[in-house]
Amino acid sequence: MTLKKLIASVLARSPLPSVTRRAHRRQLSILMFHGFASGALRPFENLEHKHLEVAKWRMFAGWLAQKYRVIPLSEAVDCLERGKSLPDYSLCVTMDDGFRSTHDLAFPVLKELAMPASIYLATAFVDETRPIWVDRVSYSLIQAGQGYAELRAAKARLKNQSQDQIEQAVAEIERQTGHAMPLNVNDPSMPATQRSLDWDQIIAMRDSGLVEFGSHTCTHRIVGRCSREVALDELRHSRRIIEERVGGRCDLFCYPNGTPGDFTDESESLAREAGYRATLTTVPGWNAANASPFALRRLGVNNELNLTRFQLMVSGVMARLEGYGT
Ligand SMILES: [Zn+2]
Repeated sequence: MTLKKLIASVLARSPLPSVTRRAHRRQLSILMFHGFASGALRPFENLEHKHLEVAKWRMFAGWLAQKYRVIPLSEAVDCLERGKSLPDYSLCVTMDDGFRSTHDLAFPVLKELAMPASIYLATAFVDETRPIWVDRVSYSLIQAGQGYAELRAAKARLKNQSQDQIEQAVAEIERQTGHAMPLNVNDPSMPATQRSLDWDQIIAMRDSGLVEFGSHTCTHRIVGRCSREVALDELRHSRRIIEERVGGRCDLFCYPNGTPGDFTDESESLAREAGYRATLTTVPGWNAANASPFALRRLGVNNELNLTRFQLMVSGVMARLEGYGT
C-alpha cells in the first residue's frame, strides 16, 4: 500500500469525514461527472480520466444515496432563487457533454436508486454527432504517443482563441500527428465511450422523471473567451434546440471548461439574457444556502478516485487538506 493510500484509508476510518460532511450539510453540493465506461479503456479514451468505470459509479451512487439527499438541480435552484433553505445534506448529480454512456451505463443505476440527475448537452455533439474539440486533440496526441502534459499544454494554448482558430489548430495537430478522430463520433470505428446520446435516449431519460437536461453550448465553446455575439448565439441556439427536442423549458446552463476566466461577469449577464436561471462552473467547492444560482461551484468526479477517496472528496476532507472550496 502506498503512503497516500494508507493516509486515505486512515482518514476514511476516522471521524473526520462525518465532521466535515456535517459542516457542509446546509450547503449545496453539486457533483460533476462526464461519461462512463464498462471496462478497461484504451489510453486515448480516457486521457483526462473523465469516463468513470461503471463499477465505481455503482459504488459511488450507492454511497451518495445513503449519505445525502440527492435532489434535481432545478429544485435546488428554486430554493436558491427564493432564499428558501435547502434540505440538509442536499446534493445534485450533474453530467457534462452528453455522452451516450450516461444513458447506457449511468441511467440504469439512477433508476435503481430513484436518483435524479441533470445532463448538459453540447448540441453539436448530440444533434450532429460532431466530436468535441478537446476530444479530437486528446485522440491525436495519444495516438502519436504523447500524454496528459501535452494535452494540457494544447488546451491552455487553444482555449483563448476563437472557434475558427481552434478548428484550424486542431486540424494542424491532426496533420502533424497523422492521427485524426473521425468527424462522426458514432462512426463504427469509434469506441463506445466517445459516442453521443441520441434524442430517443434523451427522451427516454426525460420520461423517467429522473433526468433533466440543460445546455452546454452548441460547440463546447468557451463562453467567456469569445465575442458577445458568438457567446449569445451559442447560449440561445443550444437552448432552442434542446427545448424543441426535449420539450419544456431549458433554463440551466453549464459552462464548457468552467474555470475562472472561462466565464466572466459578461457571460453571466448573457446567460440571463438568453433565458437561463442558473449556471454551473468547474470551480471546486460548495454553494451557500443564500448563494446566487449563477456561477455555482461543483466537485469534479473522475476515474482516478476510488471509493475511499471519493468519500473523502465529497465529505470535504480533501478540500480541508488541499485548501480549496472555502
Ligand atoms: Zn464539457
